[in-house]
Amino acid sequence: MPYTTVKPLELVDYHLYIDGHFQHAQSDGRLPVIDPATGEQWATIADAGAKDVEAAVFAARASFEGTWAKTTPAARGRLLHRLADAIERHADRLAGFEVRDNGKLLREMLAQLKAVPNWYRYYAGLADKVHGRTVPMERPTLFNYTLREPFGVVACITPWNSPLLLAGFTIAPALAAGNTIVLKPSEHASVSSLEFARCFEEAGFPPGVFNVVTGGGATAGSALVGHRGVDRVVFTGSGNAGARVAANAVSHFAEVTLELGGKSPNIIFEDAPLDAAVSGILAGIFAASGQTCIAGSRALIHRSVYQEVLERLRDRVGRIRLGPPMDAETEMGPIANQPQYQKVTSYVEAAKSEGARLVAGGCPARSAGLEKGLYYEPTVFADVRNEMRIAREEVFGPVLALIPFESEAEALRVANDTEFGLAAGIWTKDLGRAHRLSRALRAGTVWVNTYRALSPNMPFGGYKSSGIGRENGADAIHDFTRVKSVWVETEPVAGDPFTIKL
Ligand code: NAD
Repeated sequence: MPYTTVKPLELVDYHLYIDGHFQHAQSDGRLPVIDPATGEQWATIADAGAKDVEAAVFAARASFEGTWAKTTPAARGRLLHRLADAIERHADRLAGFEVRDNGKLLREMLAQLKAVPNWYRYYAGLADKVHGRTVPMERPTLFNYTLREPFGVVACITPWNSPLLLAGFTIAPALAAGNTIVLKPSEHASVSSLEFARCFEEAGFPPGVFNVVTGGGATAGSALVGHRGVDRVVFTGSGNAGARVAANAVSHFAEVTLELGGKSPNIIFEDAPLDAAVSGILAGIFAASGQTCIAGSRALIHRSVYQEVLERLRDRVGRIRLGPPMDAETEMGPIANQPQYQKVTSYVEAAKSEGARLVAGGCPARSAGLEKGLYYEPTVFADVRNEMRIAREEVFGPVLALIPFESEAEALRVANDTEFGLAAGIWTKDLGRAHRLSRALRAGTVWVNTYRALSPNMPFGGYKSSGIGRENGADAIHDFTRVKSVWVETEPVAGDPFTIKL
């Protein structure tokens, strides 16, 4: 089993990956790596400081201007395919590290790791299809064209919930377009990103193309985003940190993409295929213990089927198997870390005090054998009003709010009445309604009669406070290029030097 292959006999001290080598951080700070399923520390990582960030950005810049700049787009594509091959070979091992880091189910992390190569293959194929345009001009002696050039050094900052999947959303198109990378994973889940660096060596990437600095957001993260050698920042995480990151990046005019949180509505109409809809609600909120940005944390249910859906949910939620994430039978693992656990607890208390009706869970897991881990019961609140905190703020945990509605118009109003706009689900057999609502919902992704589906060739990103920019899809590779305009006068003449040529 992958778990046993990664289980160390003693604490492992991880270092930074800079310029093709694992190297000790210049900063003395170390952070503990704790398995949320057992509460045991099993490794340490470096809390990198400004000097470490400087070294990583310097290596990425040197590579960007040196070996990497000489690599042709087709050669970059071939390297990305070899990287995908290496990830496939090590998928089990990398998934095992992610489980020990964030406590998500092995079957979930394995499914992610098996899909991650698709991102590298998709953008490998696009690497030699990034090109400018020739632009017809009014004056026939002019020959004008545009070039698409890579930015330079891309800083990629990831959260703890799906480290390598989310990193792939950025790294694959950024490298395909000719940039180099400094990755700063979450301080709560850094090991898989460090182990992933070995895949770059195996694939034959030149040193410096891919670098990893670990550490806290306020230390390593802030130093990286604020470094003037960083040309573009892609941040995935919470809105509060995202706003700080955007301000920091813009202070030295780096472009920024923000992938932030959500409070996504999963809307069940009276004509919904109910078995699939109930399964979709469960998948939306209890898969990954609700620790996903696209969690369908608000289930909006038509009044005529409200009681039936509630009963079915209560029955199924009562049978969700909580347990160790490596166990094949487990359906819900622990919460990933202590601060997140406290956040879940405090939102549940807030919902109770605001008058939401608790119909399942609402407390730490009761089963024997789970006492040491951060296990929390899958929790359902009924009769939630959309103005309650449990319906407005992102919990990022296994807590579902059920909100009844009477009409399509009311469902749409409630669904859009949120500061977020990452995703939405619609469950109905009425095709007209499905398309009508898909347009009207202010969310970056709308799923109809399905939920929590992702692919490298479908764009992903948020409306409103859920983010800026889009990842995935063919256009995303262009976000890692800058357009340059080239004007060529084929019959030079000395015109009026004091008048702009329009
Ligand atoms: P977080 O914002 O606390 O941290 C995310 C990353 O940002 C970490 O690596 C952290 O160290 C770093 N960071 C924090 N402050 C920083 C700063 N000032 N400068 C630079 N870096 C900084 O988020 P989290 O708790 O790790 O993740 C949960 C959040 O991520 C949720 O809100 C979730 O919705 C969101 N998320 C969004 C997506 C998406 O694609 N939209 C995907 C997954 C998670």
